[in-house]
Amino acid sequence: MSLDPGCAAPRQTLTVLEARRTILDAVAPVGGHECVALRASLGRPLARDVIAPCNVPAHDNSAMDGYAVRAEDLPADGEVSLQVVGTAYAGRGFSGIVGRGQAVRIMTGGVMPMGADSVVVQEVVRVDGERITVPSGLRRGQNVRRAGEDLAEGGVAIPRGKRMGPAELGLAASLGLAEVAVTRRLRVAFFSTGDELASIGRPLAPGEVYDSNRYTLHGALARLGYELIDMGVVPDRPDELEAAFLTAAGSADVVLTTGGVSVGEADFIRDLMQRLGEVGFWKIDIKPGRPMAFGRIGKAWMFGLPGNPVAVMVTFYQFVQDALLKLSGVDPLPERPMMPAVCVAPVRKLAGRCEFLRGRLFAEDGVWKVKPASAQGSGVLRSLSEANCFIVIDENRGDVKAGETVPVQLFEGLI
Ligand code: AMP
Ligand code: MG
Repeated sequence: MSLDPGCAAPRQTLTVLEARRTILDAVAPVGGHECVALRASLGRPLARDVIAPCNVPAHDNSAMDGYAVRAEDLPADGEVSLQVVGTAYAGRGFSGIVGRGQAVRIMTGGVMPMGADSVVVQEVVRVDGERITVPSGLRRGQNVRRAGEDLAEGGVAIPRGKRMGPAELGLAASLGLAEVAVTRRLRVAFFSTGDELASIGRPLAPGEVYDSNRYTLHGALARLGYELIDMGVVPDRPDELEAAFLTAAGSADVVLTTGGVSVGEADFIRDLMQRLGEVGFWKIDIKPGRPMAFGRIGKAWMFGLPGNPVAVMVTFYQFVQDALLKLSGVDPLPERPMMPAVCVAPVRKLAGRCEFLRGRLFAEDGVWKVKPASAQGSGVLRSLSEANCFIVIDENRGDVKAGETVPVQLFEGLI
């Protein structure tokens, strides 16, 4: 595997897809697992298949409120009168047997009484004291949920590699499981580089900017549920950077840095990386976020993201997040849905690079439309905060006219 295809190939730059593929092909799950209480598993990938220890549902039961009957008692046409001999509630069944000409009042979720095989919904039945009149047209087994219909005992209920979400928590609970085996929490160390950076909590000196990148990264990483090692701001000094890289790589699975990889700044970091590990410095056909470093220092994977705050977010979500998911055992990786939307304003765009523009997706007259943010500078975090999607304009495309359709990538998923 080459970590530096940009250098090996005659071309100097990588496309977004090539960069993603190179990174995702390079990394493999870090391994390790632990058993945790069900609620604590939220967001974590399963280390093993969850096997159903019982059938779900556990018993044949009614899908509707109605009457449990024997299909053979029902007429092919016309009506039949049946005697109601008891009631089956959800959680409190009918202990007798339904005989010929009989029926049992049954509620949704009630266990099917012995002898009955079908449920007639209450809406089609005429009640007269202890007797009901049932029309024809019922199929055998109608309105009955079979034991094991959702999940058969011994089957895989949730596969290894799946991240536990609300549905999976509920599914595991429906099987009576109090614990599940999840993969070890990934350890991610991160720091910001730059002599101009000040940490929040003190006034800015002339020429300084507050370090915002560590906070965006904290947010993005904390959501993934990882163990975070925030190493603060490291100035652009080779000795301090070397110490920070060695500490980070010695204590984490992944080291993330921001800043210092742009042309002009990268040289001494590149020399440093070449001494400390195997790291490629890439130019990617992407805006924002063209320069990026990726490779290994010791056992740790290293991502050197650009310094501009929006470029950090773009490169994190396009290149880093899925790599972290793969390292932490997520398999398969989630789809990255894109949807078409009508772009309501023109966009100036150079062909030859993929641009991720901040946009606001909205529905108007039943059509999905997207408005590009007016401020697209790679330092303008405000427009990222106001956006709800990236408008993704690929390498091959140039300017976009108002009214043209563009693909967008939503920031939020539903579940
Ligand atoms: P660099 O990639 O180091 O050349 O930085 C590019 C731009 O991003 C410069 O204007 C930096 O001041 C700014 N920048 C770098 N790191 C940060 C950070 N952690 N927080 C806010 N701005 C940053
Ligand atoms: Mg810098």
